[in-house]
Amino acid sequence: MSPLLVRADLRTARPYDNRPFPSAGAPVAPLNNNESPFPPRGRHLEALRDAAAGALATTNRYPDTDLTALRTALARYVGHDVRPDMVWPGNGSNEVLLHLLLAYGGPGRTALGFGPTYSMHERIAAITGTRWAAGARGGDFGLDAETASAAVRAHRPHLVFLCAPNNPTGTPLDPATLDAVLSAAPGLVVLDEAYVEFSRLGSRAGMLSDHPRLVISRTMSKAFGFAGIRAGFLLAAPGVLEPLRLVALPYHLSTLTTAVALAALERSEELLAHVPGILAERRRVRDALVRAGHDVAPSDANFLFFDTGGDSTHVASRLAAHGVLVRDLGPAGWLRVTVGSPDENDAFLRTLADSSS
Ligand SMILES: *Cc1c(COP(=O)(O)O)cnc(C)c1O
Repeated sequence: MSPLLVRADLRTARPYDNRPFPSAGAPVAPLNNNESPFPPRGRHLEALRDAAAGALATTNRYPDTDLTALRTALARYVGHDVRPDMVWPGNGSNEVLLHLLLAYGGPGRTALGFGPTYSMHERIAAITGTRWAAGARGGDFGLDAETASAAVRAHRPHLVFLCAPNNPTGTPLDPATLDAVLSAAPGLVVLDEAYVEFSRLGSRAGMLSDHPRLVISRTMSKAFGFAGIRAGFLLAAPGVLEPLRLVALPYHLSTLTTAVALAALERSEELLAHVPGILAERRRVRDALVRAGHDVAPSDANFLFFDTGGDSTHVASRLAAHGVLVRDLGPAGWLRVTVGSPDENDAFLRTLADSSS
């Protein structure tokens, strides 16, 4: 009965599926989700525990709806003269992107993105009944200013999604492309900076003051190693964020999440100290893949996108059988692998070489 009662546009939809290929026992190298390989330890873990304990002592009260302390800490963390009233926090960047599409998308409206890119952008558009216009990247997975602005002029979208660095390809976004999209777009331009802490180009948050229709999404899920906590945020002009109060549920961010995120932001430098090591490992894994004859897209993030030269689904399932998890998202032949700890990366390279021979 329920398939007939459900919204017509959802009847043929499938839920988000990130289940890896089956592996025997616990995976030795979970390199499929672009997570940090390092859980909090020692005095960092202690600080998070203290913050959580403090929050638990006030569970009878609803959270602070203004989230002033968190917005202030996030603004300070981002820098670039971002003020607390330019920050909109939520349960991961996926949730704040949902808020954005609830307020600015919807039936009769269009969002444009350029594949291959982060599939949740299209999914969140679908959830909110927003039409998705699919633009395409070049053969090298880059996106040039002309292609991007031509697509914007053709579709006149209410929202344009860009991703810098782009997931799953890892490729940076040419600053000229962002400029061209900002001049051509009639609506909001959403720049997903989930991996910006790994990026040589850095955040474009400094552009917000001159570009009132630019919205940047950020997350603590990746470089911060906070994927399990669910903390993300938008950066935009206060006037763009104000309508999000109309669509977000009251008290959407729990006291516990807020307290732990604040404690992490207080020690952001120490928690991000592993980033240079990840970048060194990225170079090492990339060089090894190239030596083994694989094409590898230029990466500005904590993952690599490489051509298996064969059946990527088959390679991914063979890797998984040995406990090495990677992501097979298309295009055909290509796989995405997260840069993990040195041991995990060794396991990946060794197993890939064995699986290919
Ligand atoms: C992982 C990822 C996110 C993170 O989403 P959260 O909801 O914050 O965990 C956002 N955008 C991109 C492109 C990602 O790859």
